Amino acid sequence: MFSPLLNQLANAFSVIPGIGHKTALRIACYLMNNDVNKEKAQFLHHSLQVCLHQLQKCRMCQMINDHEVCTICQDTQRQDQLCVVDNIYDLMNIENLQVYRGRYFILYGCISPIEGIGPQELNFPILEGILRKKACPELILALPISHMGLVTQKMIVELAQPYVAQITTLRCGIPFGSDIEHLDQNTLIYAFKERTHIGDTPHA
Ligand SMILES: [Zn+2]
Repeated sequence: MFSPLLNQLANAFSVIPGIGHKTALRIACYLMNNDVNKEKAQFLHHSLQVCLHQLQKCRMCQMINDHEVCTICQDTQRQDQLCVVDNIYDLMNIENLQVYRGRYFILYGCISPIEGIGPQELNFPILEGILRKKACPELILALPISHMGLVTQKMIVELAQPYVAQITTLRCGIPFGSDIEHLDQNTLIYAFKERTHIGDTPHA
C-alpha cells in the first residue's frame, strides 16, 4: 500500500488544471525523494505562502498583482483605451506584442448560461463602474472567437455603449473557435491593428 500522506500530496497537485493524478503522484514522489528535492519543496512551500498572503487582484484591471493597483494601471504614459480580455494569459500575450499602449480589463471567463455564468458571476459590475467613472475613447473587445465569446461581446456592447466613444473587436483574421492565448503572434498583431467597429457609437 502506498503512503496515504504521499497520496494526499498528489491529490493537492492534481487540483491544478492539466495535471492528472499520475503526474501529480510523480511530482509528489520527486519532491519527497531526497534532501535536495525536499529543499525545492520548501522553496515551493515558501513561495506559495508568500503569494497566498500578498497577491491580490488589481482593483482596476483585475490582474493578479503585488499591489492594490498594478503597474500597468499606474502608468500615466498609457492611453485611456480599455482592452477587455477573458483571462490573464490573454492580457500577457497582447502586452508582449508591444503594439498596444492602453489599459486592460480581465473578465475571468465568458457568459455561459449552461454553467450558470452570467454577468454578475464575471466582472461586469466592476467594468461598468470603471466606465462610469472615467471617459474611455475606445473599448477594445479581445474575447475568444466562440459562441460564448460572441454572447459575452454582445452583452458588453450593451453595457458599455452609454459610456464609451467607440467599441472595436479583434475579429478580423482570427478563425472561429480560437483562443487569444493560442494564436500565433503575427495573426494577433494583424487582428489588433485591423480591429473593427461594433455597436453604435453615440459619442464618436
Ligand atoms: Zn491593473
